[in-house]
Amino acid sequence: MILIDGKKISEEKRLEIKQKVEKIKLETGKVPGLATILVGEDPASKVYIGSKIKACRDAGIRSFHHSLAADSSKEDIAALIKKLNADPEIDGILLQLPLPDNSFADECVNNIDPAKDVDGLHPYNAGLLNLSKNRNDITEKNILVSCTPSGIIHLLQKSNVQMEGKTAVVIGRSNLVGKPLSMLLLANNATVIMAHSKTKNLKELCKSADIVIAAIGKPKFINKDFIKDGACAIDVGINRTAEGLCGDIDFESVKDMDITITPVPGGVGPMTITMLLDNTLKAFVGRKAAQCAAKPGRLEV
Ligand code: NAP
Repeated sequence: MILIDGKKISEEKRLEIKQKVEKIKLETGKVPGLATILVGEDPASKVYIGSKIKACRDAGIRSFHHSLAADSSKEDIAALIKKLNADPEIDGILLQLPLPDNSFADECVNNIDPAKDVDGLHPYNAGLLNLSKNRNDITEKNILVSCTPSGIIHLLQKSNVQMEGKTAVVIGRSNLVGKPLSMLLLANNATVIMAHSKTKNLKELCKSADIVIAAIGKPKFINKDFIKDGACAIDVGINRTAEGLCGDIDFESVKDMDITITPVPGGVGPMTITMLLDNTLKAFVGRKAAQCAAKPGRLEV
C-alpha cells in the first residue's frame, strides 16, 4: 500500500502560496484579502472558520471575519455580501455552509461576485468549469473551482497517479464535491463514471476502476470488494463515529492491498483549506488583471 500524505503535500503547497503572497507584497505593497461570513453559532462551523482564518494569517493573506445572528434573513446576508462585493480590499468571500436555515443557501451564494467566489460554488464558475475543454483551459481562464475537488486533483498529480486514459469512478454527485471533481477528472482526460445512491452494480463498477473516489458521507462504506489491486482510492468522507473520525473507505479492510490510498484524517482534509488560500490568491490576481485591462498602462501585479 502506498499512503498519500495529504498533510505533507498540503504544507508544501501552503509554503508555495506564502512565497507568492510575499512576492506580490514586495512588488505591489498589497496582499490578498479574504472575507469570511459565519451565520449562527454552530460549533463545527466555528472550528472550520477558525482554521481558515489561521491558515490565512500563516500564509500572509488578510482575513476579515463577519458574524451574523443565527436568525439572519437572506436579505441580511445579501446586504453584507453586497458590501463585501464592493470592497476593494476583499478579493475572496467565503460564506460558511450550511446556514442555520440552509433553504436559501444557494440564493446567498449567487449574490457573491463570481470574481470573489473562492468556494467555486457560484453558477458562473461552476458553468465555466463544465464548459472547460481541458486542464489548461481551467488554468488559463483562472476559473475558481470548488476547493476539495481541486485539492484532490493536486494530491493525484503530486503522487504521480496517472489520470489520462484511466477509468475513474466518483461516488457522490454533490455540487460541492462529486460534480466538480468529475469535471476536473474529465479535463485531465480520465474516463469518468459518476455514481450515486441509485447506481446499480456499484461494486462491479468500482472493482473495474483505476481510480475510486468516495464522497458519500457513509462511514467505511467502501471495502476491499470494491477496489482492485493497483488502483488508487481517494477517501473524501469525514464521518464522526463513536470510535472517532473515519472516512467512507474501510481502511482496515483495504490496508494490505496493493493500492495507493489517502488516509482519514491526513489525506484530502488538509487540502481543502489550502485550495481556499490558493483560490484567494487566484481571485486577487484575476481581479488585478481585470483592473489593469480596464486601465491600460497601470499594471499593478
Ligand atoms: P452529500 O451532498 O451528502 O452527497 C453525498 C453523495 O453520496 C450523494 O450524491 C448521494 O447520492 C451519494 N450516496 C449516498 N448514499 C450512497 C450509496 N449508498 N451509494 C452510492 N452513493 C451514495 O455530501 P458531500 O457534501 O458531497 O460530502 C461527502 C462526504 O465528503 C461527507 O462525508 C463530507 O463530510 C465529506 N467532505 C469532506 C471534505 C473535506 O475537506 N475532506 C469536504 C467536503 C465534504 P444521491 O445524490 O443519489 O443522494
